[in-house]
Amino acid sequence: MSAPTDTQRMEKIVSLCKRRGFIFQSTEIYGGLNGLWDYGPLGVELKRNLKNYWWRVMVHERDDVFGMDGAILTHPAVLKASGHVEGFSDPMVDCPTCKAHLRTDQIVEKKGIKQCPNCGGKDLTEARQFNLMFETHVGAAADESSIAYLRPETAQSIFVQFKNILEVSRKKLPFGIAQIGKAFRNEINPRNFTFRSREFEQMELEYFCPAQGGMKWLDYWLEERLRFYENIGISRTKLHAREVPDEERAFYSKGTYDIEYDFPFGRQELEGVAYRTDYDLLQHQKASGKSLEYFDEETKQRFIPHVVEPSAGVDRTVLALICDAYAEDQAPDEKGKMETRVVLRFHPRMAPIKCGIFPLLKKNERLVAKAKEIVDLLRPQMTVFYDQSGAIGRRYRRQDEIGTPFGITIDFETLGEKEPALQETVTLRDRDSMKQDRVAIKDLPDILSSRIARSCGGAL
Ligand code: ATP
Repeated sequence: MSAPTDTQRMEKIVSLCKRRGFIFQSTEIYGGLNGLWDYGPLGVELKRNLKNYWWRVMVHERDDVFGMDGAILTHPAVLKASGHVEGFSDPMVDCPTCKAHLRTDQIVEKKGIKQCPNCGGKDLTEARQFNLMFETHVGAAADESSIAYLRPETAQSIFVQFKNILEVSRKKLPFGIAQIGKAFRNEINPRNFTFRSREFEQMELEYFCPAQGGMKWLDYWLEERLRFYENIGISRTKLHAREVPDEERAFYSKGTYDIEYDFPFGRQELEGVAYRTDYDLLQHQKASGKSLEYFDEETKQRFIPHVVEPSAGVDRTVLALICDAYAEDQAPDEKGKMETRVVLRFHPRMAPIKCGIFPLLKKNERLVAKAKEIVDLLRPQMTVFYDQSGAIGRRYRRQDEIGTPFGITIDFETLGEKEPALQETVTLRDRDSMKQDRVAIKDLPDILSSRIARSCGGAL
């Protein structure tokens, strides 16, 4: 069952993303290009935190996974062998009335009659296959012989480099190759903000194993990946593992799960975890004529490894992080009157800025100097934001709205002007509870690092 949609909530999120510099429409001043997005100062930090954490748990913390970074422009032979040139397409129909191009799954049917979802037009064309790959030419000659493609997924360069990486890593099965990078699909209808884009990033792992381990590793990776989403702060109740039924699964897959999330626009796929058997390596072995077999020292057998693929979208996960974090609650204003507060409750690990630093008064040189000392103290360990303008309550709100988990205020106690015992202490405010503790400046690096690490079970 699909989760209910919440249009108003989504509109607020899109507007916040633009207003605060998470995500902008690409080339907006020229009217924009549909399905393309630019990440602003905060969006790029959020995205980087996500990719770094994925890389850490999928590559650095394991001794059975290696990374790679493949080229985006792809030889047509690779995509012919993988089946993309022939079959990477969506069925499309046109509406002659409003000139819309539609994926067939978007058509609405009323009383058995198919209609355009935009204008209600009923004279839709027959469905035809539309290939989603972007084609380009490499070199000066723009003819058949120079065709190349922008990769539609990162996975194929992993399969093509399988043998090289196996040799240099000197690993036995099971082992995996991970990659994060751009992928391009000429989607018929980009929609739901960044959810369906034409240029996006993927985080993919190909985990190679003997045939008899395939189903076991499928279950293993499903669990690992669900845990990952929980560890970046996405609510477990909004995550769903859907077993893809036989009729929807690729013919070569023996089992696939979609990890779905309840976005405000409905329940949609975040990641696919698929047991792809030996299909990919076999196809590339056949097409290239090069052996992609593995030699098992113990059994003295040669065989093509099977593969389990957890394939996640960076942009979709960033969107899920923002949607999950968005909240409105009540907080007191300067005069103690309750007002609505917009807050992004990001997990501290994911938050673009970890700590806001505020001198109580911008005109007091000693307060400002002390605040800047704290900026220098914390900056080597975390992203901080110094803000001296406006009332302190407003400054807290500005940070709440972008999800900064901690705020430090430097006041007259810090300078020792009120109570000598409080000299060299500051208030440390927690974004979610809005509670403030008095802590010694010298303890800040340790306290903040441990609060960020504790909440996600790891080091910074
Ligand atoms: P969908 O059914 O939504 O088109 P898919 O099943 O074609 O997705 P895969 O080919 O399995 O997607 O790609 C793996 C992951 O890449 C997806 O789970 C998603 O997170 C991401 N992804 C795929 N297409 C897009 C897109 N157009 N925009 C953003 N992310 C995408």
